Amino acid sequence: MFIPFVDLKAQYLSLKNDIDTAINNVINDTAFVGGKYLKEFEENFARAYGVKHCIGVANGTDAIYIVLKMLGIGQGDEVITVANSWISTSETISQTGAKPVFIDIEKDYFNINTDLIEDKITARTKAIIPVHLYGQPARIDIIKDLCQKHHLFLIEDCAQSHFAEYDGKFVGTFGHASTFSFYPGKNLGAYGDGGAIITNDDILDEKFRLYANHGALKKHHHLIEGINSRLDGLQAAILNAKLPHIHNWNSARLNNALLYNELLKDVKQLQVPKIRNNCKHIFHVYSLRAEHRNELMAYLNENDIQTAIHYPNALPFMPAYAYLGYNENDCPVAADYQHKILSLPMYPELSREQILFVADKIKSFYSN
Ligand SMILES: *Cc1c(COP(=O)(O)O)cnc(C)c1O
Repeated sequence: MFIPFVDLKAQYLSLKNDIDTAINNVINDTAFVGGKYLKEFEENFARAYGVKHCIGVANGTDAIYIVLKMLGIGQGDEVITVANSWISTSETISQTGAKPVFIDIEKDYFNINTDLIEDKITARTKAIIPVHLYGQPARIDIIKDLCQKHHLFLIEDCAQSHFAEYDGKFVGTFGHASTFSFYPGKNLGAYGDGGAIITNDDILDEKFRLYANHGALKKHHHLIEGINSRLDGLQAAILNAKLPHIHNWNSARLNNALLYNELLKDVKQLQVPKIRNNCKHIFHVYSLRAEHRNELMAYLNENDIQTAIHYPNALPFMPAYAYLGYNENDCPVAADYQHKILSLPMYPELSREQILFVADKIKSFYSN
């Protein structure tokens, strides 16, 4: 039995008619850039989150960059973020001219350790970008309090956490603005690149739209220089067809994760992921910690089971950030976990039989 890390085809087949119709409609209406399908998706996504505005953009990386730029962050500023994330979170900080400041992760939940944030706040700090990594909410209530106390902007990177909940509230609704990716493998995925920003702030909404569209709200009327970052009509129409299913897909992922946890909890060489109290974890990634991680990964691969590592190098230890001078003692948990974490196959359509197969192979690896 071959078990892929993700199976995007399975989801397409389950919605084939809706997706094919959506694509055909865009072509028939030649609504390729801007147009009614984009508008419809922006309205639907904002409504689903209970927020005033959604701005579709080209990808989740641009979403962060646009927010940072329009909050006025740049040269001489510092932005606090987390040591374990995808590089989009920190490269966009640098691209504005500001300096990323990395905070170590929590032992149990892989997210920014809120106990360590206040020590890193300086007169230059302008914002905090927590990431709800793997689909597990960060301690967003504490982070929000810190932002209020120190007059900082709060930007939530929700690229991995579409409709995850903290205390019954969607993450992405706590900050000044929140950013999403619709990269095909994300919980809500397009058929190419895509992203969005949500906010309740009317002025920010207008600034984000302006900047993403060459600095113009009206054609040929450029108030500032901007960039070209648009969610195209095809992607918007596909996302519109998929949006009604996101809660079912998230629940299916959670059930799959609970089954993995149940089957693997007694394997003493493993630490299965914990779910924070009062949270809905949406398991974009099912990441456990494993002894002999690399050997286990190779063994699973030989047995037709694809796995991944999120991420093999924590951000502060990447060559790109050597100039900042971090060493492993600065972020000891992230430094330790990068050698232990392993992500198992995870997608809504994963069957019980497939999960049992993966768990059996893991157990047979450790019994040898
Ligand atoms: C995927 C991802 C992004 C970037 O999204 P793209 O659409 O690929 O640009 C940003 N942050 C995190 C945490 C991500 O996982």
